[in-house]
Amino acid sequence: MSTQLVWFKRDLRVHDHEPLVQAAKAGACVGLYVYEPELIEADDHDAAHLDFVNESLQEMRAQLEKLGGKLLLRVGTMPEVLEKLHARLGFEAIWAHEETFNDVSYQRDRRVRAWAKAKQMRFIELPQYGVVRRLKDRDGWSKICNRRMKQAPTGPPSRINRPPAAEELDAGDIMPAADLKVRAFDRRGVQIGGEANAIDCLRSFLDTRGVNYQSAMSSPVTGESGCSRLSPFIAYGNLSMRTIHHHTNARIAELKSQKKSGLSIEPTWLKSLSSFKSRLSWHCHFMQKLEDEPSIEFENFNRAYDGLREDEFNRSFFEAWCHGQTGYPMVDACMRALHQTGWINFRMRAMLVSFAAYHLWLHWREPAVYLARLFLDYEPGIHYSQIQMQSGVTGINTVRIYSPIKQVTDQDPQGIFIRRFVPELIDVPDKHLAEPHKMTLMEQTLFGCQIEKDYPKPIVDHRQRYKAARDRIHAYKKLPSTREASAKVYLKHGSRKTPMRKR
Ligand SMILES: Cc1cc2nc3c(=O)[nH]c(=O)nc-3n(C[C@H](O)[C@H](O)[C@H](O)COP(=O)(O)OP(=O)(O)OC[C@H]3O[C@@H](n4cnc5c(N)ncnc54)[C@H](O)[C@@H]3O)c2cc1C
Repeated sequence: MSTQLVWFKRDLRVHDHEPLVQAAKAGACVGLYVYEPELIEADDHDAAHLDFVNESLQEMRAQLEKLGGKLLLRVGTMPEVLEKLHARLGFEAIWAHEETFNDVSYQRDRRVRAWAKAKQMRFIELPQYGVVRRLKDRDGWSKICNRRMKQAPTGPPSRINRPPAAEELDAGDIMPAADLKVRAFDRRGVQIGGEANAIDCLRSFLDTRGVNYQSAMSSPVTGESGCSRLSPFIAYGNLSMRTIHHHTNARIAELKSQKKSGLSIEPTWLKSLSSFKSRLSWHCHFMQKLEDEPSIEFENFNRAYDGLREDEFNRSFFEAWCHGQTGYPMVDACMRALHQTGWINFRMRAMLVSFAAYHLWLHWREPAVYLARLFLDYEPGIHYSQIQMQSGVTGINTVRIYSPIKQVTDQDPQGIFIRRFVPELIDVPDKHLAEPHKMTLMEQTLFGCQIEKDYPKPIVDHRQRYKAARDRIHAYKKLPSTREASAKVYLKHGSRKTPMRKR
């Protein structure tokens, strides 16, 4: 019986895993996960990412063994790891999911393909999302994506045959981040990886937490439990997108049938789940952009914006932003929340980037890499697209500059989130929380927060920087050369749901 190798990367699950199912059908089969130094040491990687991977691997290893399989863990560079394993196992094919990750993984995949070709070995990569390889045209893309999402998810293979040569092989250890010397932040309350946790998270969202999704998602106070919190499970593939769609559709059907039969359901449920479904569809829409143009990890979508910010990078502004010391409580609270938990809701991510790009006039690349380390759910396709969008350099999206002051009154008027993450402000009354530097000296003493001693004064003036940035970005956007480049960006990447307006 021929031996098949299943290479797991960011698809750490046994359910709805097409390469695993196909490989198990094709012959005896062994699983492999590789701790790749070049990925682990990259600037966008963090110990929390590896912890999540390890939690997933631990569960997966047990599941595969129950099915009769074996998961090998190795530390090393691809394709060297493959070369060594091939000498022991003599596998005839490698099965994997297509991956749309960072440039390091892109280059590594090219080397693996070349290695397999030289060995005359089949390297079969199957899609795991709605992302389409070698897409010719964005028109019609969403049809392909929807078709894939409609297919019913599969279970794990009923049985995996283990090749006799695998018995002899050392399975390899789960490698803690400390052993691999991975950089770490001081984290608390980070989500834990694995398929079982992923399913629990999905069920609790669809059964109870999601009821007010639409209204809860914008605030960091309500978003923490009102958003699905599925993002890290999606990023590491603990859950397939198809599985999420399938469960969500089933829940919508259940709610509709309850309603039809006269049972009372919360009036917000159906709207919330419909809004959730449209958010889900953004996932593959953004990942497709990176698949089509890998250079967006480093370069502006719209090259007409080259030179806009590059020469004005203010390092002390950047450091203050990174460490939650800008003097704007909402910005600082979000940054410090990210340091601890690795998660913040969409609006606050957008505000953080908008503040860096407009108020501090920082080029997006360094902030993007810093946030990539902080986000437990780091997904380059979404990440770089969103960062560039929120920095105003795509030319095809509305320019949105968030006020860090208004976000306090809109999203945390009682200071629940801010006081949790910026304890210096714990006794400052609500009315001063958006702009604590405006307190009189007497108030500062009374409320135990001396500006510049206990908490910084704003590093920039909001109103002045807002206006200057707005004028600069709009002037750039209107240039004929920018408009011409924007039309090309739209053709390649634009969502066909929102036609390009006259810009
Ligand atoms: C600057 C910036 C950077 C971001 N970087 C990432 C990232 O690295 N990884 C990541 O998963 N998301 C990223 N997002 C998108 C979004 O903020 C997160 O997906 C969301 O906050 C994750 O929480 P959730 O799973 O509870 O989301 P929910 O609101 O419950 O949404 C469910 C799922 O839909 C998808 N989704 C939701 N919103 C978006 C969106 N705007 N674009 C694309 N997909 C979306 C995600 O897969 C998400 O898990 C970024 C947004 C911004 C503004």
